[in-house]
Amino acid sequence: MSFSWTGGEAKAAAALFLALAQVVAPMPDEPIYVWAENRVYIPAEANTSRPGLLSWDGVEYCLEPLERLKFDDPAPRVPVMAAGQTGKSNIGVVWVSWIICRSPRPIGLGLPNRAKAQAFNSKKLQPVIDKTEDLRDRVVPEGTRKARASTTIQKNYPGGSLTMFSASSVNDLQSESFGALWLTETPNFKAEVGSRGSPMTQARVRMDAWEAAGTKELHESTPGEEGECPISADYLAGDQREIYLACPHCDHSFRIDWEDFVVPSDPSEEPYVVPPCCGPTDGTIILERDMPALKRVIRRRLEAEAILTPETFAQITDDLAAGYLPTFVSQDPANPPPPRAVPKAEFTRWRDRPVEGRLNSYHFWQVLSPFKTWRGIAQDYRDAEGNPSEEAAFRQQKLGLPTVSGVKPPDHQVLVETAKAIGVIPGRIPPGTCWLSGQADIQGDRIEWAAYAHGPTFMARIDRGVIEKDPLTVDAWADLAEIVKRRYEGDHVRPLGFDAFGVDSGGVEGVTPRVYEFTRGRANVYAIKGATRPIPSGLPTELKKHKGKDTKQRTITVDLLLVDGYVIKRYIALGLQQFVASAELTAPLPGAILFEDDATEEDFKQLTAEVFKRAVDAKPGQRGEWHQTGPNEQLDLAVYGWALAYQKRVHTWDAARWEMMFKQRARVDETAPAPLEALWSADAQPVPKAETAPNPGTERRSLFSRRSET
Ligand SMILES: [Zn+2]
Repeated sequence: MSFSWTGGEAKAAAALFLALAQVVAPMPDEPIYVWAENRVYIPAEANTSRPGLLSWDGVEYCLEPLERLKFDDPAPRVPVMAAGQTGKSNIGVVWVSWIICRSPRPIGLGLPNRAKAQAFNSKKLQPVIDKTEDLRDRVVPEGTRKARASTTIQKNYPGGSLTMFSASSVNDLQSESFGALWLTETPNFKAEVGSRGSPMTQARVRMDAWEAAGTKELHESTPGEEGECPISADYLAGDQREIYLACPHCDHSFRIDWEDFVVPSDPSEEPYVVPPCCGPTDGTIILERDMPALKRVIRRRLEAEAILTPETFAQITDDLAAGYLPTFVSQDPANPPPPRAVPKAEFTRWRDRPVEGRLNSYHFWQVLSPFKTWRGIAQDYRDAEGNPSEEAAFRQQKLGLPTVSGVKPPDHQVLVETAKAIGVIPGRIPPGTCWLSGQADIQGDRIEWAAYAHGPTFMARIDRGVIEKDPLTVDAWADLAEIVKRRYEGDHVRPLGFDAFGVDSGGVEGVTPRVYEFTRGRANVYAIKGATRPIPSGLPTELKKHKGKDTKQRTITVDLLLVDGYVIKRYIALGLQQFVASAELTAPLPGAILFEDDATEEDFKQLTAEVFKRAVDAKPGQRGEWHQTGPNEQLDLAVYGWALAYQKRVHTWDAARWEMMFKQRARVDETAPAPLEALWSADAQPVPKAETAPNPGTERRSLFSRRSET
């Protein structure tokens, strides 16, 4: 019989499961961790430093996320973002063992690729199945002649099968239906598989048929790059639970962050923790050997919570003040996150903190792990310190925190050479682009401006200049108005105006009203304001209607584009890297930012004038800083160009949309030469003859004016 179920078959199976569940006597409601103890066997082959029958001693931080995985718990998903060597994958191993024995249904286990799936089976799963009696009895062995013989990536048992699938295979993602899903190593998942979007979403859809029976997902992983790795996204969307331990020296419970962990410079000395409660004032310290007793309280509290009613809950004594507390930052000032140390007497209240509809999400790092010594952590840090890529790995693997890589821009001299070698022709729209942005940066005594051409693969600066006039004078703005009206052409496109033009509104004292007056009434001209904090939507830009004052103190409404330069500067740095890397190739690399072949050393000094810094122990979501080292006007202009294209959703256009755009804007004369730059021809878009079509340009919007028919 085949287990590649269609939706209909899966629904039927789920319905049968529900019907059976009603006639079978209910299982005693023991916690999964109690069931697993002294039953699941973790052999040495399973890469553990503690082979034998499973014991939770020392890994009590795994218990609460494991309990969330029961099917009668309302949470559909349990995100666990954690360091390596903490036993986090044992949460999954125990969970699937429990499902197979106590609540069988089809399980999907998603890994980045087939090779990883096979390695996971041989290292983490098969050894456990072989040595655990309850599993051995149920899982049909491999290599038998039975129709339901298991394979390396599919374990069959009565009531379902555990299928290890590759998250990079369209076939794998489409073939099975699951009542439970376990996703691991997700930072290595591809962003998209096939044309169907993220493999995470595709895998989650496989559970739809089982919804009535209660589906569950365990998403456990070490994190990768913040904002891009799925586990940090799921963790940040949740209530962000951290372990607090009851301090043996005072009446507080505290959590251990990296900043509390003291790495002695002499490797022969023992590392220690300064508890944030009484450590700084009383000189108390926590040693590694104190940890087993502190962690045992986590379990005692969970057990107490399970048997006590809400009424008697308050009787939990202060001595049980250990466990997870939700640390997310609420928009509601009445619901603050717990400080790093809370009075034991208030622990229950903090644990009951409203989570505002967020899922429980969990983080733990190696300081809690019995599989890693503190001396080992300290040595790992000494080895990584000072080397940015090693520090990033340390942060992910040891602290279980996502990294925000600085993305160092290339050296400005290298950029000058690159521009000479593969730069575009000044003032011309290069092949591969057909959408224009313009931007102006207001300085105290002048206005600097630039023009960028955008295409599906790259953006290119094609013009720049300086208006050497005081921006508080009318003259300066008359000059800028001429710039805004400019048109550019290319060998493949007819003359085009700016699709969007942005003017910095916050740079200079007193200039804001002039910017508002200038942008109002000009189609596709926007006032730009740098965001000082993340935009609530999480996106790099936001366009809003803004009421401001003009130069006569009248209230006017303008289109104000908020620009989160913090995020965008990273893309600019990446774009400069891609520009340099493109020099070796025959076509610009994706995301590259190109420059004119006469771009100067000063241009590139400005473009690389900011350095990214972020503390190694920064909390997830906490921002680093860009430190300015010199004039940066060209960097700001590049940021504005990127932001304008982003706000106009240019990055979301697919090949068909770009093709239409190129056709609409193509030259119509027969004599148009073929693209000259053989260098770029590999990437040139098809530009057949076609009707000319609108490019808005940026004329003053008036009831009486009509779009020019250029
Ligand atoms: Zn203390």
